[in-house]
Amino acid sequence: MSAYREGDRIVVLLPARTTKADEARLVSEMVERITAREAKLAVRGPRASDAALTARAAELSRAYLEGRARPDSVRWVRNMQHRWGSCTPAERSIRLSHRLQSMPQWVIDYVLVHELAHLLEGGHGPRFWAWVDRYPKTERARGFLEGVALAGQLPGGSSGEESDDEPESSEDPFGSGDSPEGSLF
Ligand SMILES: [Zn+2]
Repeated sequence: MSAYREGDRIVVLLPARTTKADEARLVSEMVERITAREAKLAVRGPRASDAALTARAAELSRAYLEGRARPDSVRWVRNMQHRWGSCTPAERSIRLSHRLQSMPQWVIDYVLVHELAHLLEGGHGPRFWAWVDRYPKTERARGFLEGVALAGQLPGGSSGEESDDEPESSEDPFGSGDSPEGSLF
């Protein structure tokens, strides 16, 4: 027994020996299961999947970082309230805050490029920014995120800098202090 979506129909496959009585019940069960699954996906949004994010990171690495940044894992997290993204170079893992999901793609792309660049350069020195600035909307995206932070969407207001090489469990609302700029990005 199985069911799948085909355009605007849901196709339910039942064993040949299913009785009429069972058929009605099984079909409605399967339809309910499929629509529930679809509703769950719709809430998260099509670009909210970790697979899509991983694919995007690979594209951006190719486009702006000569394909040199190769993370092992790229995923959305819901427990990062004070930063937009973080990177743990030792694990080659990148996490983005789910709060970015409602923002324009070019802003999400900036945060991805920023975290990818940390796989090449720790800290926020000139060599780091030389990589990040290859992404043409870097300045614009930084301004956008500063605006969001100042608009009070971040608890604590001006603490939007991500900490780069700490897992979110050790998240520090005032930044990890590894940023020479000392403030937002
Ligand atoms: Zn950073």
